[in-house]
Amino acid sequence: MKRLMSIKNLGVNDIPIAGGKAANLGELTSAGFEVPPGFVLTTESFDYYLKYNKLKDFIADALSGLDMSSDAALQDASGKIRKAFEEGEMPKDLESSVIEEYKKLGKGKFPLVAVRSSATAEDLPTASFAGQQDTYLNVSGPESLLKSVKRCWASLFTPRALAYRVSKNFEHDKVKLAVVVQRMVNSDISGIMFTIDPNSELPHIIIEAGYGLGEALVGGKVTPDTYVVDKFHRKILNRRISNQTWKLVRGESGECMKEDIPADLASKQKMTDEQILDLAEIGNQIEMHYDRPMDIEWAMEGGNVYIVQARPVTTLSKDKNDKAGKAEEKIESSRTILVKGLGASPGKASGPVRIYQEDMSLDVVKKGDIMVTQMTTPDMVPAMTRTSAIITDEGGMTCHAAIVARELGIPCIVGANNATEVLKNGMEVTVHGQTGVVYEGLDKEDRPASTPVAAMAPSAPVTGTKIMVNVGVPQKAEEYAQLPVQGVGLMRIEFLFTSYIQEHPCALIEQGRERELVEKLSQGIATVAKAFYPRPIILRTSDFKTNEYRDMKGGAKYEPKEQNPMIGWRGCSRYVSESYRDAFLAELKAIKRARDEMGLTNVWMMLPFVRTVEEVVKIERLMNDVGLFRGNDFKLYLMAEVPVIVFMAEEFAEHCDGFSIGSNDLTQLTMGADRDSDILGRMGYFDERNVAIKRAIAHLIKHAHNKGVPVGICGQAPSVYPEFCEFLVRAGIDSISLNADTVLKTISYVAAAEQRMVLESIRKQK
Ligand code: PEP
Ligand code: MG
Repeated sequence: MKRLMSIKNLGVNDIPIAGGKAANLGELTSAGFEVPPGFVLTTESFDYYLKYNKLKDFIADALSGLDMSSDAALQDASGKIRKAFEEGEMPKDLESSVIEEYKKLGKGKFPLVAVRSSATAEDLPTASFAGQQDTYLNVSGPESLLKSVKRCWASLFTPRALAYRVSKNFEHDKVKLAVVVQRMVNSDISGIMFTIDPNSELPHIIIEAGYGLGEALVGGKVTPDTYVVDKFHRKILNRRISNQTWKLVRGESGECMKEDIPADLASKQKMTDEQILDLAEIGNQIEMHYDRPMDIEWAMEGGNVYIVQARPVTTLSKDKNDKAGKAEEKIESSRTILVKGLGASPGKASGPVRIYQEDMSLDVVKKGDIMVTQMTTPDMVPAMTRTSAIITDEGGMTCHAAIVARELGIPCIVGANNATEVLKNGMEVTVHGQTGVVYEGLDKEDRPASTPVAAMAPSAPVTGTKIMVNVGVPQKAEEYAQLPVQGVGLMRIEFLFTSYIQEHPCALIEQGRERELVEKLSQGIATVAKAFYPRPIILRTSDFKTNEYRDMKGGAKYEPKEQNPMIGWRGCSRYVSESYRDAFLAELKAIKRARDEMGLTNVWMMLPFVRTVEEVVKIERLMNDVGLFRGNDFKLYLMAEVPVIVFMAEEFAEHCDGFSIGSNDLTQLTMGADRDSDILGRMGYFDERNVAIKRAIAHLIKHAHNKGVPVGICGQAPSVYPEFCEFLVRAGIDSISLNADTVLKTISYVAAAEQRMVLESIRKQK
């Protein structure tokens, strides 16, 4: 490892030695963005300095037996350590190489530089306070450069940083800091930029801009202008002009000083519209490079824009890259954690715990309860609709509880191990569905569990990719129909069984109640189809697994016990077997009735868990027997879930009007990872973003398109990971069907991805 490295030779992989700030600056430089040149003293330099001055033992001595609860003792120890750092001797060889690199920045002379601490990944929380304090601007000459470097290092030992590390059991000698030395930009205007609105998460670029050096603005000392730019349409949506009465400037001898701003300039818009839009475009490009929303610091000197820092926005609600540590910080400051699991459906809810066991009556679950159970089953759905949150001991991100909760718009935690033991009936708890944490006590700030999704709808960008919505319980159809979607990409008929029927279909048929079954199913279908008419609804015929059907009233007689129901008698394999055929015919008759008798010709059909071409051929014959014929206004989709469809796309394409990727099952079967397994989920085996899944999807799209057949997706992947849309759009997906709660946000991702593709192709043509 090198003690000094030039910024331009760094990339994001160098965070462990160069720290986040320096590594990102290197990444940006290589990607062609304007970054002031500079170099970094890596963590190796830090170690070298520490060793050379025997500071390790000194620090250990200063901290041994320290009473952390005593502020005076802490201040004292911190002062001693920092003094030792600042007064230490720079090893001669390190000193001369620093000065040599420094001179290069000024083409032989000593230029003005900024000296900035750059924290390594492990000590980010610690160094984040250091990071704020330890930027030295307008540093000039070798002596003050070396002094500033030492001061940066010493800043790892401020009283706050020490106390924080102790509270987190973080070993002091594991903490390292890199230091960036960078040519100073003498900015006329500077500021920050977010490539997403971090509060609303709308696709807006938020720019804050003020006169002078950026430090005053970043430190919150002056109020900047704020501009909101529409990410897609190069349009300024909003501007708030501040009254900036002073600015930070470079003084005669390089020092930072305050300077008053004349009244006429103080209240003027700080940047021209053209500059705002150009800056927003740079933000777009940076986001494109990193493939995620970014938080950027920039500076403008003589009309040129320089990027002085860029890091991913980590506060987004769906940001799965957000480190668990963030959640722990919140936990530490406020409350007691009772249980932790996988955050499967976002949102917060408070209420009394209701432990539910399989043999109980659903009536025990009351409105507003937090339902805690081993695992939910389809027959529990009516009770689930009354709960304000759901917690399960078992299950992964696409298990039954997760899917239903997202559909209902309520928070859900799955795979919480022993929640049914730790939580007790009546306990008042708060569930955080994103972080997967259950806290003791009620949270007064909760928003109501179900904000109508469409009520949040601003005008959505128009996308080339069709956006559809997944609908479960028919009661939600009217509300979801308000969303800017082009139809329903997945309506699971199972929800009709659980909402309207609640008995095993074979039992009903055996009792001579087939008409009732058809009638109820068609009513449920009609409820959704009417709400969306004339937009199509793709109704998926049943895909219960044997274990789920057994739990239905009268189910035990018809459902064999299987070792692996997930890869057992489900989907199409049922329709072509004697023992289920009549029940499937009832589903077909219900579709026929909704279409022909109720005039809802927007009902299309989709087959789940397709394994062979032969079964599709047989099923189409059954459809024809009840009078359902594929044609212009009646389309048959096949779900692409079993990898066989990917490998035999051309053959299957002969027998359908479209494919819809069931990424939940496709991931399960490609990875060989049971989607219900909390163990595998936690270990990261079940992840739709795996390159193999992406290749499978891209392959299917390519081969289906060769046959002129469209491909959509209706699994959870784009709802859980909106950034997955970038890949889907680039792979040429025709439609994306989403959970209602993620439609608006995900449309933005799709629009952004499409816009990037257009920009890229324009750039290529130039
Ligand atoms: C899927 O497998 O992705 C899918 C949408 O179907 P289900 O989750 O109902 O199995
Ligand atoms: Mg599936």
